[in-house]
Amino acid sequence: MPSSRRAATRATAGAATPDESGTQIVLAMRRMHQVRSIDADNYSMIVEAGVTLSKAQDAAREANRLFPLSLGSEGTAQIGGNLSTNAGGTGGPSLRA
Ligand SMILES: Cc1cc2nc3c(=O)[nH]c(=O)nc-3n(C[C@H](O)[C@H](O)[C@H](O)COP(=O)(O)OP(=O)(O)OC[C@H]3O[C@@H](n4cnc5c(N)ncnc54)[C@H](O)[C@@H]3O)c2cc1C
Repeated sequence: MPSSRRAATRATAGAATPDESGTQIVLAMRRMHQVRSIDADNYSMIVEAGVTLSKAQDAAREANRLFPLSLGSEGTAQIGGNLSTNAGGTGGPSLRA
């Protein structure tokens, strides 16, 4: 069955909105909001798709690490939406290798 994933719906990307066919379902991710694990030594974390960007930033900060992606919509935008839209944010250019 065709489906679309909806995160916080802050984006300019259209796929969070179903088409007019009436055959699509919308998968809302907001209850998938757990930070599952953080591995500070390896600078990595595992989070569910509905974790907001600000929650991921906070979790990294608590582990004494920086999660550098930062957007105006970070309080509501979700990691799944960030990845899907390849969101770069204001810190992206300065942190690019
Ligand atoms: C005020 C404001 C400032 C912004 N600033 C920036 C900026 O500085 N830099 C930048 O790059 N972008 C910026 N954006 C756009 C930004 O890319 C999006 O707001 C955000 O990344 C999308 O997250 P969302 O949770 O709103 O996703 P949604 O709008 O809900 O979804 C976006 C897309 O991702 C898909 N998607 C969502 N969740 C999943 C999932 N779990 N699996 C697969 N696909 C999924 C949806 O189907 C849709 O196609 C800004 C937006 C706003 C409103």
